[in-house]
Amino acid sequence: VVEIGTPERSVITTCAYCGVGCSFKAEMRGDELVRMVPHKDGKANRGHSCVKGRFAYGYATHKERILNPMIRDKVTDPWKEVSWEEAMTFAANRMKGLIDKHGRQSVGVITSSRCTNEETYLVQKLTRAVFQNNNTDTCARVCHSPTGYGLGQTYGTSAGTQDFDSVEESDVIMVIGANPSAAHPVFASRMKKRLRKGAKLIVIDPRRTETVEAPHIKAAHHLALRPGTNVAVVTALAHVIVTEGLMDEAFIRERCDWDEFQDYADFVSEERHSPEATEMLTGVPAQTLREAARLYAKGGNGAIYYGLGVTEHSQGSTTVIGIANLAMLTGNIGRPGVGVNPLRGQNNVQGSCDMGSFPHELPGYRHVKLDEVRNLFEETWGVQIDNEPGLRIPNMLDAAVEGTFKGLYCQGEDILQSDPDTKHVAAGLAAMECVIVHDLFLNETANYAHVFFPGSSFLEKDGTFTNAERRINRVRKVMAPKNGYADWEVTQMFAQAMGANWNYAHPSQIMDEIAMLTPSFAGVSYDALEEKNSIQWPCNDKAPDGTPMMHIDGFVRGKGKFIRTEYVATDEKTGPRFPLLLTTGRILSQYNVGAQTRRTHNVVWHDQDVLEIHPHDAENRGIRDGDYVRLASRSGETTLRATITDKVSPGVVYTTFHHPDTQANVVTTDFSDWATNCPEYKVTAVQVSPSNGP
Ligand code: SF4
Repeated sequence: VVEIGTPERSVITTCAYCGVGCSFKAEMRGDELVRMVPHKDGKANRGHSCVKGRFAYGYATHKERILNPMIRDKVTDPWKEVSWEEAMTFAANRMKGLIDKHGRQSVGVITSSRCTNEETYLVQKLTRAVFQNNNTDTCARVCHSPTGYGLGQTYGTSAGTQDFDSVEESDVIMVIGANPSAAHPVFASRMKKRLRKGAKLIVIDPRRTETVEAPHIKAAHHLALRPGTNVAVVTALAHVIVTEGLMDEAFIRERCDWDEFQDYADFVSEERHSPEATEMLTGVPAQTLREAARLYAKGGNGAIYYGLGVTEHSQGSTTVIGIANLAMLTGNIGRPGVGVNPLRGQNNVQGSCDMGSFPHELPGYRHVKLDEVRNLFEETWGVQIDNEPGLRIPNMLDAAVEGTFKGLYCQGEDILQSDPDTKHVAAGLAAMECVIVHDLFLNETANYAHVFFPGSSFLEKDGTFTNAERRINRVRKVMAPKNGYADWEVTQMFAQAMGANWNYAHPSQIMDEIAMLTPSFAGVSYDALEEKNSIQWPCNDKAPDGTPMMHIDGFVRGKGKFIRTEYVATDEKTGPRFPLLLTTGRILSQYNVGAQTRRTHNVVWHDQDVLEIHPHDAENRGIRDGDYVRLASRSGETTLRATITDKVSPGVVYTTFHHPDTQANVVTTDFSDWATNCPEYKVTAVQVSPSNGP
């Protein structure tokens, strides 16, 4: 029992973990945070929370936090603590030297979906206005970039269609490649409440997750597909809907391009897309596919929620398109209880994409080639903006290895641990002449850094996060930054050291600039956020109170666009050396690479990643429950303990990636989504064998 005493004051702010965006009261006694209490007026959580948001904030005051800037000439030198002024001068001189010697395209930035909208906006502005290139990318590259592409192509906007309240009117809920019970727990509780009232659940996932078998709830259908066959499954569902005449033809005629629909209908009707023809490939019984398609099409309001099990594939964008097609086919768009909803993994994935962090888009998803958009930013910023898209994260690393990319400012992201093919990431970082890491802790990437800017936690700054339902929530400063400056101030100091004339006194001024330049944010300001509690974009003259639900009378792009979804097998093949397929996921108590949750006294604890393996596969290899095993792929190998379970099918193994000593990404491949380069984390051919331990 911990005695917390009586709080003296409280500040309402937003959880910094997942994309649900729960609102909390941070209760303080003096300078000490004594408790996080879920806020009953939070529109996303309505007084609920999960174990991470409620208890896992201790990392903000953890002893391993770095509070002083550090520099070093070479990465083999020891770090030297310096003043902020000296660190800024050192970093700016190095970056300016690289630009002078190798050209402006030789440097770039990586931003984080952990940071606020205002901080992310400033980092992409630094790239475009100060470095004068478009080499800006975000960690959304490795999670939801296919969502941006797929929903942008079909519906015209790169975001989910509904608010979370919508699930309370769903009759059929299809969850694809997501395990909200572990990764989005507060949304999962709202979903389960609806399921307990009789809504039906369809889960498409290789693994029998906690979502498939929640207490008192059993999915009507679990489609335990073979990893890598999402497109074949989604197209087979469409085949059933079209060939059995289950479409909503009136909706399609009114809201979608009819010629494109006919082309798509011809395509999915081909016999090769039937459940019977795809059963062998996908591993899903034909009858289950047929029953799931019928339930989704005719079971009432059908809503789809999906996660990284959809996007992190070589055909991630194609699956997102296939999901969008399913909703259009059945008219499940534009009213409560329906829609297509990406469950965002990190607190501000939506916001970091909205803020122009991609190398081809300015804030508001507008392409850098559009003259009228570039002109607007050029007039406001007083600089010329490059009209060619810049480098994505994998392209930056490739270019570094080739010797043309020399300098990186990496804010709030540990790419060595979180990006695929760790050896290649390390080679790219090692080849650079200036790596600036801006983070709370000396992370794995910092091993290759020349400059370390200490970061600030969400408790130490003002700003906004945008959650998975496009809701812009206020983040409020609870305590003074322990390192002296909020992250937006650090970026501003760096820009000033590089010669920029930036003078923002508060993040509200940055939001005012965002609103001025971004039509979907035109009505957003800190005053409006105070008044309305939170705002879902678009918010402008047409929608002054924001937009809980999109595409009500028409799609943002005009007519909804059906696109063919041809299944193409991944190049990551199993064979005699690597006969099993590895897929990955998260557990409830940990968050991503664990930098925050591992440094917190969490009430539920898992101190290691484990490998789930089916009893048959374990027996064949002489592996017993709890044994150490060697997990090897074409990329590398690691050692971890095995858990024998039939949650995974024969031929499939599963692990998490929360602990740096496991380094699951040493094993994952470097194949990626054809449209966006999102890594194929979810399919790796592996072998598992007994081991004596690490
Ligand atoms: Fe935080 Fe997500 Fe948990 Fe809510 S559900 S408390 S946003 S981790």
